[in-house]
Amino acid sequence: MHDHDLLDCSKILEGLSDYIDGDAAPEICRQIKAHLEGCSDCDNFVETVKKVVIMYRSEKETMTEEARMKLHKILEEQCRDRM
Ligand SMILES: [Zn+2]
Repeated sequence: MHDHDLLDCSKILEGLSDYIDGDAAPEICRQIKAHLEGCSDCDNFVETVKKVVIMYRSEKETMTEEARMKLHKILEEQCRDRM
């Protein structure tokens, strides 16, 4: 047992699209936030992803299917890079 509950980077990436959509469970949000505070790699990555999301959201309040697909593509590429 560790005395902290930080998730692995790969787990963060899995939950990230829901987190950015605002669909993640509160517990997941909390764990992702905790991870980002301790992991500058993921923090930088989330900033990049957020820019993409904001760019796509500028015309509509909710994320379009196109934006969602692009986001998932970015996430997949990022996961591959880290394996
Ligand atoms: Zn990380």
